[in-house]
Amino acid sequence: MNARAHLIIGFTAMLAAIAMTTGLFLNTAWTEESAVPAQRCVVVWSEGTAGTDVYPKDINGAIAEGLASLEGWEVVTASLNDPDQGLPDALLHRADVLVWWGHKKHGLVKDKLVRKIVKRVKEDGMGFISLHSAHFAKPNKELMGTACSWGAYEADSTTLKVTVKEPDHPIAKGVKDFTVEHSERYSEPYAVPEPQAVPFEGVHTLANGTEDPSRIGLCWQVGKGKFFYFQAGHETNPIFYDENVRLIMRNAVEWAAPANQ
Ligand code: ZN
Repeated sequence: MNARAHLIIGFTAMLAAIAMTTGLFLNTAWTEESAVPAQRCVVVWSEGTAGTDVYPKDINGAIAEGLASLEGWEVVTASLNDPDQGLPDALLHRADVLVWWGHKKHGLVKDKLVRKIVKRVKEDGMGFISLHSAHFAKPNKELMGTACSWGAYEADSTTLKVTVKEPDHPIAKGVKDFTVEHSERYSEPYAVPEPQAVPFEGVHTLANGTEDPSRIGLCWQVGKGKFFYFQAGHETNPIFYDENVRLIMRNAVEWAAPANQ
């Protein structure tokens, strides 16, 4: 090989090295620009009344733990006891989905905050997920526009069998029928508008074997926003640590997020 051939080979190798380096650089830049989606935000709100024996980090903490594996989501916990009742304007406007658990302190939630939440759902498309006794929460009732009462509330359910009724519904994705211990039973009828989907039904079984079926997971469109209600979740039951329920919560958050992002 003569000196000229060496030079050509050397030059080609150099070009290849430059091309590789440039390519790698461009590739990195492209990846950072396009493959990382803007983070969405889910706020999990509760009132701080659940017993610390079952929920040492309150119910919002347990739910947030289950949502932590959602990719591309920022999970924020908020409490009635926080400044601005947990939902300062900046956070409420950043939230794509608001999860709500309340029981004893519905009346303390300020009407002004409720109006802001309802506006975010109806006009901006923020998703709203209401859990168990939050059926009587002010934002829940305001969004439904009905009494939102159940036919009966009895502390006699020994087990709740949850059945997937609409397996193709996004909230039911990957969910199989499952049974949880549940000491509280809500009975039909549930005074709400006709739901657009009922992905989950269930049967409460009493100690004497009596069975009481009811709807467990219900979906509505309210203005621009999506609304999901899940019946189970009494504060003495560790249901929000249950992997089936955690999957339903993750699916529900993804489903309820505004579609235009
Ligand atoms: Zn309860």
